[in-house]
Amino acid sequence: MRNKLIVGNWKMYGTVKETRKLIFQLAVQWGKRCDGVEVGVCPPFTSLFVARDELKESHLRLGAQNCHHEPKGAFTGEISPEMLSELGCYYVILGHSERRTLFGESDEVVSQKVRAALDWKIEPIVCVGETAAQRESDETEAVLARQLEASLASTMPEDAPHINIAYEPVWAIGTGKTATPLMAQSAHSFIRGQLRKKFGNLADGMTIQYGGSVKPQNAFELFSQPDIDGGLIGGASLDAEAFIDIIEAASSASQR
Ligand code: PEP
Repeated sequence: MRNKLIVGNWKMYGTVKETRKLIFQLAVQWGKRCDGVEVGVCPPFTSLFVARDELKESHLRLGAQNCHHEPKGAFTGEISPEMLSELGCYYVILGHSERRTLFGESDEVVSQKVRAALDWKIEPIVCVGETAAQRESDETEAVLARQLEASLASTMPEDAPHINIAYEPVWAIGTGKTATPLMAQSAHSFIRGQLRKKFGNLADGMTIQYGGSVKPQNAFELFSQPDIDGGLIGGASLDAEAFIDIIEAASSASQR
């Protein structure tokens, strides 16, 4: 039985002051451990330090939104996995569509980052997903297969238990449009099939999150699908009440 995994991707939101406030609301004021759910938050780099301190006594885990694949070097503006590990990051989001589209990250680069994160014992959350045009032209499965194969090219079966996949249809991110539960389930089941080809039965234990305009109103139905193991949550993770409702929906879905 897989646990659900709910991770907040704060994107470029969250000054130190805002981070303190949001984490206080989540970890101290609420702070509940929900059965069957693991929870993480990924604030911007500049807030990781303070977030780590605020999360110390809680069960919430810290994550980052990106990293470079090299351990150190002349890479102005970049952050290495070692630096994230030092700050206690448990997760790192890699290959988010905003990084792929706005910052030109290729599957090959994502694959190098995945390897580097795993080598530093940080669990990657590897994002894959089709654009609206690709879905309309019936290319969804081909795109997912290609992204998964290339983004995971650097991994081996022993890595499987430490890799999380996030299915994030690009057309659903930050748009308010969500994949229907059946549409998402069909993509997740396809993804699990691809993972099975690479990792064998280990794929059955791997976490595949859904991301794309998850809200308290649609979370339970999405997370009740057999291959949807939680969510990568953007906008709604910046509102403590909404994020908590989503975590609780994941917990209820896990008891079904
Ligand atoms: C994301 O950024 O990963 C995401 C899913 O965003 P949103 O929930 O706002 O669509």
